[in-house]
Amino acid sequence: MTGWYPIDPLLSVLITLFIIWRTWLLLSQAVNILMDGVPPHLNAEEVANAMINVVGVREVHDLDIWTITSGRDALSAHIIVSAGKNRDSVLADVQHMLRERFHIGHLTLQLMEERMEWIHPLKRNWSKSYVPISANPGKLS
Ligand SMILES: [Zn+2]
Repeated sequence: MTGWYPIDPLLSVLITLFIIWRTWLLLSQAVNILMDGVPPHLNAEEVANAMINVVGVREVHDLDIWTITSGRDALSAHIIVSAGKNRDSVLADVQHMLRERFHIGHLTLQLMEERMEWIHPLKRNWSKSYVPISANPGKLS
């Protein structure tokens, strides 16, 4: 039609490359969901730091962030609360922050005072989303 014959094979190659690229994107998303990977738009360390900076939070561990289904993220974590702080209000503040700032709606949070932390003998540290962070010494209390 164009009279320039190489255009046909060239177009086929381009279309093929496009299809391969799209397939790769979809596949890597699916694999990430299946492997419980941290959603690509979230940074576990950034989320952990934001949690630690909520008043009353002393430490965050066993942090997991994953995608339930495309566009719906979930988070679970253990939070050590400073002695004397109201755990309900710390929970509300952490939930509010996670929803507003990171749009994570599905949360499972376990809050404990530091003296109760012996309850679980083994902090899981094999997860790639595990962030071993303790509260910065500046904001204890
Ligand atoms: Zn714990």
